[in-house]
Amino acid sequence: MLALEFVRTLIIAIDGPSGAGKGTVARSVSRALGYRHIDTGAMYRAVGWKANLEHIVLDDEAAVARLAERAQIVVEDDVVTIDGHDVTRAIRTPEIDRAAAAVARLPRVRQVLVERQREAGRSGGVVMEGRDIGTVVFPEADVKIYLDASAEERARRRAADPAHTGGAAGQAAVAEAIEARDRSDTTRTASPLTPAPDAVRIDTTDLPIHEVVDKVITLVREKVGRT
Ligand code: C5P
Repeated sequence: MLALEFVRTLIIAIDGPSGAGKGTVARSVSRALGYRHIDTGAMYRAVGWKANLEHIVLDDEAAVARLAERAQIVVEDDVVTIDGHDVTRAIRTPEIDRAAAAVARLPRVRQVLVERQREAGRSGGVVMEGRDIGTVVFPEADVKIYLDASAEERARRRAADPAHTGGAAGQAAVAEAIEARDRSDTTRTASPLTPAPDAVRIDTTDLPIHEVVDKVITLVREKVGRT
């Protein structure tokens, strides 16, 4: 059992590509520590969803940034709302995968969302997952994890994910979509997906999820031992 009173205020950053296991790991670690879990991908998804709803062209940076600035986005306990719409399920579709990756390329949109993420995590006691948490949002995070897995395994997981609807698509189509999103996330100019130099990298391809969670909790313990 962790001495929880000593670890209340840590910021734990979990980054990595889609299908690496970030969501499941972040949720389990946050429960084990009594921390908040903030899924920053859901914020980009919510902005992409609302931009589609309002027929805004996804590379119109000024219009999408204005939308993001005005929007009230709540990501809490696995429920996601934007301006009062519960979009928890609606943002997990192949269409919104693409929309989120498109709006995430826009520097002004990132600026707005990164600021909100910093505000939400500043007081600590948080497990924040995304692509740029350890590099940009909280470069001073106490524990930084970069999860990865083989492309095949990530596609297999995504195809089998019941939360991700709208996909009668086979694994090959899912693999293709993931590859396109990886390409967009790693090659964009604004905060491309890359491991922070001081992140602990964990390859989850052959690891059961509870082992990944145990590894992260061990790193937290070590951190607490040091501070
Ligand atoms: O993690 P998730 O797949 O839900 O993220 C959706 C998209 O949002 C990603 O493909 C990525 O383009 C973007 N994203 C980001 N930075 C984050 C989180 C997500 O650019 N911190």
